[in-house]
Amino acid sequence: MRKPIIAGNWKMNKTIKKSVEFARELGETLNDCPDMEIVIFPPFTALYAVANVVRDTNILFGAQNMYFEPAGAYTGEVSPLMLADIGVHYVILGHSERREILGETDEIINLKMKAALNYRMKPILCVGEKIEEREKGKAEDVVHNQLVKDLHDISKDEMVKTVLAYEPLWAIGTGKTASPEDANKMHAFIRETIISLYDKRTASKVRIQYGGSVRPDNIDILMAQPEIDGALVGGASLDVESFAKIVRFKRSVLSFDDK
Ligand code: PEP
Repeated sequence: MRKPIIAGNWKMNKTIKKSVEFARELGETLNDCPDMEIVIFPPFTALYAVANVVRDTNILFGAQNMYFEPAGAYTGEVSPLMLADIGVHYVILGHSERREILGETDEIINLKMKAALNYRMKPILCVGEKIEEREKGKAEDVVHNQLVKDLHDISKDEMVKTVLAYEPLWAIGTGKTASPEDANKMHAFIRETIISLYDKRTASKVRIQYGGSVRPDNIDILMAQPEIDGALVGGASLDVESFAKIVRFKRSVLSFDDK
């Protein structure tokens, strides 16, 4: 059985004060959702303050990025050691904004994957294709290639701790969502790829989130797809009411025991 995981990526938004207020309100609003994982990703400046607020709630927290070295002359970077020190549970790696805007390569993402797992943090590894790649029929090749490179030398035990997020670039922050069927098809392809890289048992345990303009009005149909185990939410995670509605998605007849 794969436990659903709904995560909110706040990106470069919210001051410390706003982050703390948000985390407090969210913890109170969602204190009755025990059978799922809820994770928020505040900006670095607010992480420590948010850690203290969510400590006694069922909200987990994570970092939106990190460097792969534990310490040293890397001006401006934040290390896995520093994140582990404040109790970070998850770290988002390979987000398309970092790949595209900050030039992060699959080789760097792979080093970060290993570093996060070494420090006992769970990566949420983002993969996904651009619109031109989809139009040329190359979406699966692109995602396959990212998975092979980003997961290089990651063991089976580490793989089951990793969450994957399928985030087609053309759906991020655009209001366009992949159709539930197309998203499910790509998730099934991702799971097949994990079978080919590891084995069936490992693949059946890995959770695959969908990300790209997830909102309260489309979460139910997305989560009803058999291969979709959660959502990585950007814009709609910045408001307590809309994020809480997403977390409280309507479970379909397909129980999570079947997933
Ligand atoms: C994201 O940043 O991971 C994301 C999916 O953003 P949005 O929900 O705003 O499309």
